[in-house]
Amino acid sequence: MRGTSMPDVGEYNEKLVIQAVRRAPDGISQAETARRTGLSRQAVSLIVRRLLDQGLLRTDGSRSGGRGKPSTVLRVVPESRLAIGVHLDPSRIAVVLVDLDLQPRARRLIAAPTRDPETDIARIGEAIESLRHEMHAELRAEHVKGRDTAVDAGGEAPQLLGVGIASPGGIDPVRGIVVDPPWLPGWRHVAVVDQLSRRTGLPAILAKDTHAALTAELWGRPLHRGATYDYLYVGDGIGSASAEDGTLRHGGGRAGEIGHLPTGIGDAVCSCGRRGCLNLYTDARRVIGAAREAGIPVEEGEERGVREQLELIASRANDGDPAAAAVLELPGRALGSAVRALIDLHDPAQVIIGGPYWHIVEESTIPHLQRAARDASAPGTAQAQIVSSNLGPHVGAIGAASLFMERDLAPRRLDPTAPDQDDPRGADSEQATHVVAPEPGGPGAHASTAEISNSVSTVPTVVTSTVSRASGSAAP
Ligand SMILES: [Zn+2]
Repeated sequence: MRGTSMPDVGEYNEKLVIQAVRRAPDGISQAETARRTGLSRQAVSLIVRRLLDQGLLRTDGSRSGGRGKPSTVLRVVPESRLAIGVHLDPSRIAVVLVDLDLQPRARRLIAAPTRDPETDIARIGEAIESLRHEMHAELRAEHVKGRDTAVDAGGEAPQLLGVGIASPGGIDPVRGIVVDPPWLPGWRHVAVVDQLSRRTGLPAILAKDTHAALTAELWGRPLHRGATYDYLYVGDGIGSASAEDGTLRHGGGRAGEIGHLPTGIGDAVCSCGRRGCLNLYTDARRVIGAAREAGIPVEEGEERGVREQLELIASRANDGDPAAAAVLELPGRALGSAVRALIDLHDPAQVIIGGPYWHIVEESTIPHLQRAARDASAPGTAQAQIVSSNLGPHVGAIGAASLFMERDLAPRRLDPTAPDQDDPRGADSEQATHVVAPEPGGPGAHASTAEISNSVSTVPTVVTSTVSRASGSAAP
């Protein structure tokens, strides 16, 4: 539908207001909302009244801002909009129901994708049904208890926006097809969006898991205008994603597949024929293999899954086992070299590290990672903050759900004739989700950098390091 009708300016402004409120962790007044969005106070007042009626916003007392009478504090009602996220993780399928704050309200973990995608999709459909039942039961219970839910506040049940699906690449997000991901050998040309949508009666969208994860990371984060944010995804394989000025870079569909990035570590030969590729040191199963060779009693097969084996190695390393610590040094150094490459390529404000296995290996790998990222920086090269994701091991599924929040509730580009650099395939690009923040030049994008910098400290993200060539401050 893009480019065929005039954009709805009113809807865009409404999304700007929602964004200003949800990115204010302590709530926000109408006057401040007007200032941050560039809208008139009268326009904000009308929009806020409508959003209060719809139950999407609520008032939360008032506070005095110096001169003048105290102003009413606005907050979003997180449970007023919900979305379901599905992550086709090679080791298991995660299905979550999240609210507007991207907090999981319920989840199902089911067996890994098999060589029978139809059966897998049936299982996912059942998990989604069961989440919807749980959601309705909870709402009824809260209503009976007279809690102040969206149902009571707005007289309207929460809206379930749809089902987001995150998959390893390669996929075709525009057509909603899982094409040929090496990590899902049984899934070839599977029209997962159509099939899940038909099964659930809900709209569905598909994105790469790294893109979904970065979308979630940026959803509630106050962003520096014009800045780049890079994401390093630590899962069964290694991946990356990058967003510039709030917009994800999609490239030709395989951007961010960095498994064959040279690390300069060791001389192991990769399947690509070269030596020392990143995946040789970071893929979970290789880390486990290295541990087995080092005599650490990790077990193979069904007895203990990849996650449990990694947990065993990490807990030994954290307890001071030198063999386990040595096993995790290599992935740390390799990740550091990848971080260094991302910093040199993009000069990002932050490199965020997350993914299903990151929280397991973080403690043991981060000192090596920091050192490698710092030591590899040549004089005059860029520096960036390295931060850990705070979304936990289900970031893929949460990210998948965030695709819908992003699509339906985030302000998007106003000019319908603006070329979409990311998607040369044309008019169906509404299915691809790639806008994750105020657009450059949009009326909401004028907050000063200083102001945004101040609020960065309120984001509940662990800042683990600032890589800097000049200072030794990042040294562990
Ligand atoms: Zn390679």
